[in-house]
Amino acid sequence: MKPRIVRANEAQTKIAPADKFVGQVLQDQVFVPEDPSRMRITRVTFTPGGRTNWHTHAVGQVLYVISGVGRYQLEGEAVQEICPGDTVVIPPKTRHWHGAAPDQMMCHLALSESDDTGAATDWLEAVSDGDYTAAPA
Ligand code: MN
Repeated sequence: MKPRIVRANEAQTKIAPADKFVGQVLQDQVFVPEDPSRMRITRVTFTPGGRTNWHTHAVGQVLYVISGVGRYQLEGEAVQEICPGDTVVIPPKTRHWHGAAPDQMMCHLALSESDDTGAATDWLEAVSDGDYTAAPA
């Protein structure tokens, strides 16, 4: 890990892969893990209706909402609305999804780490329209 400032104009926005996300989702890498750190930070921009598939994180995840209006659900619990300034704490190995509201975009920072084996995120099936459009609690 070398001291430096990584400039915004050095990176390229990527379109999130369709096998892990529903709808148009954009990813900007803020920090890619560098030994000895395992921290990864990604800025994720979900267009309206965009969301992750169901997934789990080996050692959990923290989301920090930057803009817009979003949705978040832990399996077995009600959908929650998430808004700018909210921090979402997701425990290890817990099935969940996150994304934009149906009619609004949402941008969050996603902070996560890998475990001792290098495992970070397990991607699962897409979130159904019925689950996604359930009224938030
Ligand atoms: Mn997650």
